Amino acid sequence: MSIPEIDYSEIAGKKIECPSECGMCCLCQPEILPQEMGFFRNNHPKSVTTSKTPDRHFCITMKKGHGSCSFLNNRRCSIYQNRPTFCRQFPYHFYVGDGVSVELDLSCRGAWTGEGNDAVAEAQELAERSEKRLNSALKEASQVYREFHAICKEAGVMSDVSTIRQALSANIMKFTDLAYIAKIMDRTLEEPKMDLENLSPDNKFDMKEMEDAARDTALESMASDDPMSVPVYCDKDWNWNMFMASKDKIVWSVMNDDGDLEEKGSVNPMDIPLRAPDADGAEVLAQYISILNGRESFLGNVYYTMDRLDYEDDFANTYYGCMCVTIVDLLWRASMLDHFFHTGMGAEGIKEAIIFYDMDRLDAPTIGAFV
Ligand code: SF4
Ligand code: SF4
Repeated sequence: MSIPEIDYSEIAGKKIECPSECGMCCLCQPEILPQEMGFFRNNHPKSVTTSKTPDRHFCITMKKGHGSCSFLNNRRCSIYQNRPTFCRQFPYHFYVGDGVSVELDLSCRGAWTGEGNDAVAEAQELAERSEKRLNSALKEASQVYREFHAICKEAGVMSDVSTIRQALSANIMKFTDLAYIAKIMDRTLEEPKMDLENLSPDNKFDMKEMEDAARDTALESMASDDPMSVPVYCDKDWNWNMFMASKDKIVWSVMNDDGDLEEKGSVNPMDIPLRAPDADGAEVLAQYISILNGRESFLGNVYYTMDRLDYEDDFANTYYGCMCVTIVDLLWRASMLDHFFHTGMGAEGIKEAIIFYDMDRLDAPTIGAFV
């Protein structure tokens, strides 16, 4: 067996560092692989539990059951040399779909500094450690993808992926304009196949409907009172901000290192309008759209959506529609961050929104898998 071919293009030329104040990824409960159980059974048996997920894998306990990992002290890992593979991999994600690619979690602030270790070299080392798991996931995913492509062929809904990606890339700045996005969203379920270059000026668009969709999508991810299930935003001062939503209220809290939450504010989501980026913000947004457009996990999410919609819609329209939903979700979150943190809708505000959003984006359902 050898390491499968891996696409490293998303992380090529990138450097990653891990500032000592962060610890944000230690809020995700780390899985312990079977081969790693020996160390924990022998040295830290009380720090092992089983996950609440259906597969019931072993994982590390969290402070107070919902805070950071119990091995995190003063934002540093107290078992660093023996930390699980799960922890070593962050902020890299190996996505297994039609092939294997590495995606970079932009919620990690260490991915934005331009300093630190060479990302490709780090990911290659991780791939060597995960050879067996990557091969077995690839075998499983190949079968799923074969079935998916066969169903698409029979339903006559598939188009050439690279042509669709190129068309989006050629029109990328338009995807930062709310009026254009609203038109696309209006048409995705109606047109046989959209031509991005020639959307008629007469196409109706409903800003209110789009704003409601953006708010609903963002609120869905915050709709829990379990801190383990809601989005985390690690701000520039390294605070772990969490947002929990009920029907008419979003509560903003900060979690401390012991797992306690302190409420900082709240807002009625209806009081947050969906705002457009300014010219500098649009540039940053376009760069992020370009990353999404190249991600295999984004493609896997489009495929998942086609399956969920019973293969009734054209691939191109579903692809553009998924991109638009993603963009308005991000922009609504940027608008919410601006409400609480005054981050604005310029380059800085959009960058902070990406930091807030990308971890959840990588969690979107897909027919492939992260290893
Ligand atoms: S999120 Fe990134 S910077 Fe923060 S602790 Fe994890 S790897 Fe380090
Ligand atoms: S084991 Fe260490 S690196 Fe992993 S989540 Fe816990 S504190 Fe963080």
